[in-house]
Amino acid sequence: MSEFDVIVIGGGPAGCYAALAAATKGCTVALFEEDGAIGWPRHDPGWLMESDFATSLINAVGKAVPWSKVEEYRVCNSESGELIEKSKRGGYIVRRDLLEKEIALLAVKAGAELYLKTRVTNLIRSEGRAVGVETGSTAMPKAEAKIIICADGIRSAGHGLAKKEGMCESTNLLKPGISYLLANAEVSAGIIEHFLSSDPLLNYKTFFTHRDGLSVLGVPTSSAFHDLKQRRDNVVSQKIRHAFPIEITGYSRTSSGKYAKYFERMIKDNILFVGDASGGAGNIHGMVQGQFAGTVAASAIKERDISERRLFEYQDLVRNSLGKAPFYYFSAREDFGSFDNWFHEVETSTRGITAMEFSLMR
Ligand SMILES: Cc1cc2nc3c(=O)[nH]c(=O)nc-3n(C[C@H](O)[C@H](O)[C@H](O)COP(=O)(O)OP(=O)(O)OC[C@H]3O[C@@H](n4cnc5c(N)ncnc54)[C@H](O)[C@@H]3O)c2cc1C
Repeated sequence: MSEFDVIVIGGGPAGCYAALAAATKGCTVALFEEDGAIGWPRHDPGWLMESDFATSLINAVGKAVPWSKVEEYRVCNSESGELIEKSKRGGYIVRRDLLEKEIALLAVKAGAELYLKTRVTNLIRSEGRAVGVETGSTAMPKAEAKIIICADGIRSAGHGLAKKEGMCESTNLLKPGISYLLANAEVSAGIIEHFLSSDPLLNYKTFFTHRDGLSVLGVPTSSAFHDLKQRRDNVVSQKIRHAFPIEITGYSRTSSGKYAKYFERMIKDNILFVGDASGGAGNIHGMVQGQFAGTVAASAIKERDISERRLFEYQDLVRNSLGKAPFYYFSAREDFGSFDNWFHEVETSTRGITAMEFSLMR
């Protein structure tokens, strides 16, 4: 059976970053991803919240991954179009599929082994610890590791590893949604427009517009998109009247609408949960968690102490930074008073946390 220092389950932003961090710090790493490609299917518009991490990440990968600075984040009334608030702390928009691929590539260059089309089906346990994984792949049906990092995404709490490991109550997750990449919408490059309404179909409709004018808009169903297009009583419909989809991707979303309620614990024995699999959400949040988890795992292995107590350093790092301003996308105004306040809190609570200097590794 193959043996690694660290096994990472799931090649989303959190898992790829965890693999990169652990491999860069000298660990032998296996990254298992059930899909046939990293970054695809892409449901996520690629908005990176303003933070030192986002800026340093863009500086490090900006040549390989198209990006643009968000000049303004506008929040408007869906019916009237009236401006409710705006923020200059809009962060960045990137091609998230390419960002993930780039991070996975850097992890591989740092020595991580990437196994695509390899679904982890079970954790192998011995004497109260996870000693390895079983997979559905004949190429590597089993592998052993000292530490396991679970980054299996939002499904983790529904029927994935977080649920199996008893990290959370069975969560009623997984309402479907559809992400449309639109051409010809009435939008402006460099501006995120976010619409609020008491009408559920018009509420939280956000245009994430990339520098080439293509915009990502999420809706619950394809018929909702059709209905939205037909309506004449609001600004969102007006913006998509002449738009046409050039990419359509399905995704799962939480039914509660509240993102990023971290589990009480993100560690069990020698298993570290990161990103959506830890109850969290958000690209920057997930990558920072991945960096924390990979780095703590590497130092724990080096110091030959992989006890749960030692690994709690990871959870403390998360609680003392991201935990102060989680990815509360759907309740930012309720929790922080305004989007701008939330952006400010995220920026402040993650100040000084920068992406690894992987430009040096190229
Ligand atoms: C429509 C939508 C739009 C969003 N937009 C934004 C945005 O603009 N900005 C932002 O910051 N956040 C956004 N989010 C949230 C963001 O997409 C997630 O928080 C982020 O993708 C979580 O990253 P992750 O690595 O934890 O999980 P994921 O990205 O879900 O990755 C998990 C990976 O694990 C793999 N996997 C699962 N189970 C297994 C298994 N058993 N074995 C092997 N592999 C497995 C999956 O195939 C997947 O590749 C959005 C979410 C949605 C639904």
